[in-house]
This record gives sequence, structure tokens and C-alpha cells, in this order.
Amino acid sequence: MSESELHGLLAQKPNAGLKFDKKLSETERSTREIKLSLASNRARLRTRSQSASSNDSSSGASYTGSSSGEEDEINPRDKVQKNSQGSSDFCVRSIEHAAFGRREIEIAEQEMSGLFALRKRAEAEKPLQGAKIIGCTHITAQTAVLIETLVTLGATVRWSACNIYSTQNEVAAALAEIGIPVFAWKGETEDDFWWCIDKCINTEGWQPNMILDDGGDATHLMLKRYPAMFNMVKGIVEESVTGVHRLYQLSKSGKLTVPAMNVNDSVTKTKFDNLYSCRESILDALKRTTDVMFGGKQVLVCGYGEVGKGCCAALKGMGAIIMVTEIDPICALQACMDGFRVVRLEEVVRNVDILITCTGNKNVVTRTHLDRLKNGCIVCNMGHSNTEIDVGSLRTPDLTWEKVRSQVDHIIWPDGKRIVLLAEGRLVNLSCSTVPSLVVSITAGTQALALIELYNAPSGRYKQDVYLLPKKMDEYVAMLHLSTFDAHLTELSDDQAKYLGLSKAGPFKPNVYRY
Ligand code: NAD
Repeated sequence: MSESELHGLLAQKPNAGLKFDKKLSETERSTREIKLSLASNRARLRTRSQSASSNDSSSGASYTGSSSGEEDEINPRDKVQKNSQGSSDFCVRSIEHAAFGRREIEIAEQEMSGLFALRKRAEAEKPLQGAKIIGCTHITAQTAVLIETLVTLGATVRWSACNIYSTQNEVAAALAEIGIPVFAWKGETEDDFWWCIDKCINTEGWQPNMILDDGGDATHLMLKRYPAMFNMVKGIVEESVTGVHRLYQLSKSGKLTVPAMNVNDSVTKTKFDNLYSCRESILDALKRTTDVMFGGKQVLVCGYGEVGKGCCAALKGMGAIIMVTEIDPICALQACMDGFRVVRLEEVVRNVDILITCTGNKNVVTRTHLDRLKNGCIVCNMGHSNTEIDVGSLRTPDLTWEKVRSQVDHIIWPDGKRIVLLAEGRLVNLSCSTVPSLVVSITAGTQALALIELYNAPSGRYKQDVYLLPKKMDEYVAMLHLSTFDAHLTELSDDQAKYLGLSKAGPFKPNVYRY
């Protein structure tokens, strides 16, 4: 997207279309068919759902997010399933659960108004007309809203899951029901996982030209198994830290033959996913798992970056007494300014009631620390992967592990002392609570805009390298979400714009600005 196109886009009234000079292609019909199907299925499934809930008082309770019973034993790859249009170009746990999935998607839609604003603005121009996207992300109600947005904007898609456990089976069914080729179910084996991605890449008459990846697996498989196809891709959009890291490695070794966009480091992604989302989900995860009261509790938060700041702010609001550990004097000083004591873990370990790691580092909490914790201390991790707490060191014969609830273990010492370990040290909010749909809407907004930008960019604008989303688009994603809050942005006057040396349409900050 050129600078002037973006200016036009930002100046538009909410319902105006995006100005993309793209001709409609042969995919228009299939996109239209999916859209028509989406509308008619919505009506039909709604009727079905309504009658189910009015006739069957247990229908709400019986829906658990995954199918159960005998059919779960059958690998979906061994089943023959068709959606109501007769298509069998998908592989999900059970197409029968589409109605439940549609309800889930509708709940998510309520909080994803920014993505809907994008749909409305760009629907007429179809900036993704002709885009053939391979998607490999979590398949949840929220990502379903993104997938349907991309289709509305003209794309043809094939989708698989980036994680073997995170697929909401009923949501995958709802997507398959409206004709989206989706290959994913909860509890895939490693072999299933790669088979599903392969089904998205390699099918007759299909040459994908865009990849939307979360973790880099679709990119990796295509590059390795279908290099000729890979070279014809116009661009890759990657969301995760890991995937971005892999892309930079590919670029460094000269193996990245197409442009890629790192949306993980967009301001709108980092701030909202790391700071604001964690600020909410830390409380949710702790409450759901332990029913703990926060007021008056001594909480130690390791790491005062974005995630740590979010956790501290939330717990402070609940009346907890917060202490922070940091290695970086700037973050440590920030913690002081925010009213928290900066300590060393060793100094307070005997007194803390709740210990939370948010550093992205490894072995921040070791067995020595864990040995010294007081009875009943809750221990959990909000940072990367499961490296921060040395959980492996707790698997020794002298300690007893007792499962209390799902994702909650008591670790009991020989003298009877016990600690409460959540999610075995994995990311507690992702394991024990949910991510707010609004946050996914923001991340999905950056993904959609990155796809639009890479797909529409004139040749030569992006080379075979990894790029950040242009700041103007970051601002645009934020702007799309302002109406949710009835927020009214102040416009620069000509005089003010001149004084600050800015364009009235942005970008409003230099790249070095830290928000
Ligand atoms: P960040 O870099 O802003 O903050 C991490 C902080 O930890 C830094 O200030 C660093 O100085 C400090 N630190 C490093 N080692 C330390 C140690 N041994 N003791 C004390 N402090 C130490 O990163 P962030 O954005 O806050 O993310 C932190 C981690 O959380 C990352 O691994 C990230 O991938 C993950 N993350 C989790 C979620 C979630 O939903 N749970 C969301 C976003 C990011």
C-alpha cells in the first residue's frame, strides 16, 4: 500500500471502501459463494441453535468445547464427512458441531468490532481479491473472525492449526460448514499436524501466494517440501516470536526468497497482547485455578517488562502488596516510580504468597528458591514457554506431586510443606484462562493489514527480507478499534501539524518512540 493510499484510507468515513486498484479475478465467485453460504448458514444454524436451547435445557451445559463419546476415538482422517453443500474438502473432528461453533464465533464477533470496521471499509474494494492464503494459526472463535474477514476481503484460504491442542473443534466445524477448507482438530498427533498443513499447501489446482503463519511451521514445510511453490509466494505474515526468529535466521542464511512481515513486533501487538491482556488474564487465571483472595497478599513479580507491568498493575488494584525483581536498572527504576519495592528473590522468598515470573528468561526460580518458599505459596509463570521456573528440578523422589484440579498441582515436601504450582510452569494465562477477543481483534487487524500490504505492494517495495508493519498501519489498527469505546480523536490543525513537522494523517510518532 502506498503512502497516498493510506492517507486516503485514513481520511475515509467509516463506511467508505478502501481504494485498491485491483481487478476482480476468478476467485471472486468462490469468495462470494462462501459469503452467501456464511449468511444462509448463519440463519439456518441460528434457528437450529435457538431451537436446541429452547427445547433442551442441558444444551448449554452439554457443550464443552470439544466433542466427546465414541466418535472421538476415530481419527478424523479416517472419517468421511461432507458439509451441507456437499463439500468434503476439510478435515475436522465432527461437522455436526458447526452450530455450536457458529455461536462461539458470534460471541467473539461482539468484541472484535475493529476487524468488522476493516471489513466494512474494504469490502467493496476487495483488497485481497486473488490472494490465495495458507493459514496456520490457532483455530479459535476469534481467529475464525479473522479468517472470515479475509474471505470477505476477497481471499481464498486453506487453514490448519499451529498447535495440536488449541483447536476449538466446533469452530473448525463451523468454518468447514461454510465452505472453508480447514484441516484441524484438538488432539492431533505430530503426524496429523504435518498432514493437515500439507493438505493446505498441496492440493490440485492450487498455487498459494500468501502465508499467514503463527510459529513458522507452514513456512517451514512449504520451503522444505515445495520449494518451487514457495518461490511463487508474494509474502509471509508471521505473528509469533519463534516464527519471526526463524524468519530472521532464514534471511541471514540467504534462504528467504520472499518478503515477510513481522507483526509480532508491531506496537499494537506488543502493547495489547503483553501489557493490557496480561493485566486482565493474570487475575482470571489465578482466580479460576485457586480461588485466591488478592487483598493483602505478598506478591513477587519477576521481571518488570510489559507483562510484569500488566501483572503488577492488576494485582495492585486488588490490594496486593507487590515486590518486583529486575536485572535492568531502567525497569527497576520504573517499578520504584510505580510504588513497588525492588528486591532480590533470595531476600523475600520465605514470605511471598504468590510468585509470578514474567522475564522470558530461564531458571529464574530454581529448586533452591522453591525449597525456601513458605507453605501454600502459589507459583506460576506468565513468560515465555516453561523455562522460567525450573519445574524439572521438582521431579525428585523426595517430593510428592498431587493433582488438585486441572492445571493445579500440589508439590509436597517431606515435612508437609506444599506449594501450589499452576500449569506445570507453562504460561498460566494461556493454560488456565482465555485471551480477550478484543486483543485478538487488534492482533488480527495487524495480520490482515500486513497481508493487504504485502499482497498489493508494487514489485520492488519489499525485498527478500523481514519487515515491520509500517507505523501508519499500526496506527490504523488502533484507529479501527477506537469506535468500540466511542473515543473521539483530536485532529491536528494545519498550524499545529506544521509546528510539529507532522502530516495531519500521521504517522504521529517516530519509529524510536516507545509509547
Ligand atoms: P520484556 O522484555 O519487556 O520484559 C522482561 C523483563 O524481564 C525485562 O525487563 C528484563 O530485564 C527482565 N528480566 C530478565 N531476566 C530477569 C531475571 N533473571 N530476573 C528478573 N528480571 C529479569 O518482555 P515482556 O513483553 O514483558 O514479555 C515477557 C515474557 O512474556 C516473554 O517471554 C514473552 O514472550 C511472554 N509473553 C507472555 C504473554 C502471555 O500472554 N502470558 C503475552 C506476551 C508475552
